[in-house]
Amino acid sequence: MAKKRSSQDSGQTVRCSFCGCPAEGDKVFVPSADGSSYICEDCVNTIEEAIKGFKNTSAIPAGGKTPDMDLEKIPKPKEIFDFLNGYVIGQESAKKYLSVAVYNHYKRLGQPSDDETDIEKSNIIMVGPTGTGKTLLAKTIARLLDVPFTIVDATVLTQAGYVGEDIESLLTRLLQVADYDVAKAERGIVFIDEIDKIARKGDNPSITRDVSGEGVQQGLLKLLEGSVVNVPPQGGRKHPEQRMIPVDTKNILFICGGAFDGIERKIAQRLNSHVVGYSNTARKGVDRDNFLQYVAPQDLKSFGLIPEIIGRLPILTHLEPLDRDALRRVLTEPKNAITRQYEKLFRMDGVELVFTPEALDLIVDKAIEYKLGARGLRSIVETVMMDAMFELPSCEEKHFEVTANYALKKLEEANFELNRQD
Ligand code: ADP
Repeated sequence: MAKKRSSQDSGQTVRCSFCGCPAEGDKVFVPSADGSSYICEDCVNTIEEAIKGFKNTSAIPAGGKTPDMDLEKIPKPKEIFDFLNGYVIGQESAKKYLSVAVYNHYKRLGQPSDDETDIEKSNIIMVGPTGTGKTLLAKTIARLLDVPFTIVDATVLTQAGYVGEDIESLLTRLLQVADYDVAKAERGIVFIDEIDKIARKGDNPSITRDVSGEGVQQGLLKLLEGSVVNVPPQGGRKHPEQRMIPVDTKNILFICGGAFDGIERKIAQRLNSHVVGYSNTARKGVDRDNFLQYVAPQDLKSFGLIPEIIGRLPILTHLEPLDRDALRRVLTEPKNAITRQYEKLFRMDGVELVFTPEALDLIVDKAIEYKLGARGLRSIVETVMMDAMFELPSCEEKHFEVTANYALKKLEEANFELNRQD
């Protein structure tokens, strides 16, 4: 029971054994059981807050049962697929795999625990050239979900020396988006971008061993396969004095993405080596322009992922390179297509903006000519529209048409080719 104790009681100055403050004024001091030490009310309050905070983040112990899930309310794979269609052009295979994986993720979270069959998670790996929609797919999925979702970059783990972060910090963001509710975070989804950057350089571990890459992969394995890991609440590297938050990764779904530059060669080698000694008929149907569609786990191994990691990413899917037709569609069709965004911007000023089909073709041509892909479409449109965005809000004009000639003129005036960063 709290008891006020003042300095005068014993003639000695009573001090709080925690903060060292002297007993003065109305402050309540609580003595220890043997009366040899005291704690002041400020320290009691601080400790109470700290305990509350700790209980909040650990209210359900790591690996504890998650709340029941109403399967009826969960979007079906086809609904997820249709939703993705609204934002992502093409990439049918990746969309299908993701839709099923996310649906199964929900099912696993809601599975009855009273039988012996435990539905295990199936983490996903998406292989595809840069700028073909891997991150976009992940972000779009996140719009639909009501589980915590975060995108992290694997490259932060491999930076040299002390700058690189500890593997567990990949989960810090997840904890943050779950408001440090551990039980919620333990049902979340983590998209690990640039997973190819932690590949070992070379196929033979004994000769060309890239310790940092392999070390990071070993660490990542722990996360992927499901174990209780100590996550630094603020991320970065762990400090001995930092309080860690234990998180069970058993139910966290990991979606990995990477460009795996050059993996086509490994795939081609594998496909070709299969036909040695046979007539080529077995591989006649091979589409030599797009080897990525044949990507198999052994190609990831040849690229430098360790077999254990590959085993923990059992769903392997690929993204197609975006051809001219796809780029043209990217420009106008998605719900937040770049041209739609500009139309909206202009509409807010009362101006109707129209891109002629020829102008759109030109923009796509430039993206292809400068090898910018889908990502470059935005910078091209940005350059074309800059002057109009500057001038139109101060004009009377209510209609503005972007023609191919206008677009070309603006790109030339801005020295687009010379100025671009890529
Ligand atoms: P990745 O992660 O594969 O490198 P991103 O998903 O970041 O590529 O794509 C970069 C940008 O290009 C996206 O924000 C989007 O505007 C556009 N984009 C890329 N692929 C597609 C696609 N398949 N459908 C629609 N837009 C796309």
